[in-house]
Amino acid sequence: MTPPFRLTTDAIHQLTLTTEPWLSCDDCFDDLDRVVEEVLARAGAMREAFRVHLMGCSVCREEAVSLATLIASDHDLDPSGAVALLASWVSDTARSSPRR
Ligand SMILES: [Zn+2]
Repeated sequence: MTPPFRLTTDAIHQLTLTTEPWLSCDDCFDDLDRVVEEVLARAGAMREAFRVHLMGCSVCREEAVSLATLIASDHDLDPSGAVALLASWVSDTARSSPRR
């Protein structure tokens, strides 16, 4: 017999966050390196689906943060600067920039 699926408080919190537009972890993972690359290169806006997914999914967010740390120097950023830039996109503060 399989044990019942247990919901932790953390899991419930994750499940009740906004998840629209929907993006699966697999889809996120497939494009994550490109998205992080674009964010650090200031090459365009992060797609809403990615932003929402990274807000709600700590696994993918941690993956994005380690990617940003790894490639920071490619974009003349130090690792903490790269992580801050990524965080500003995920938390939506970068989108209020007048240039689009
Ligand atoms: Zn995910």
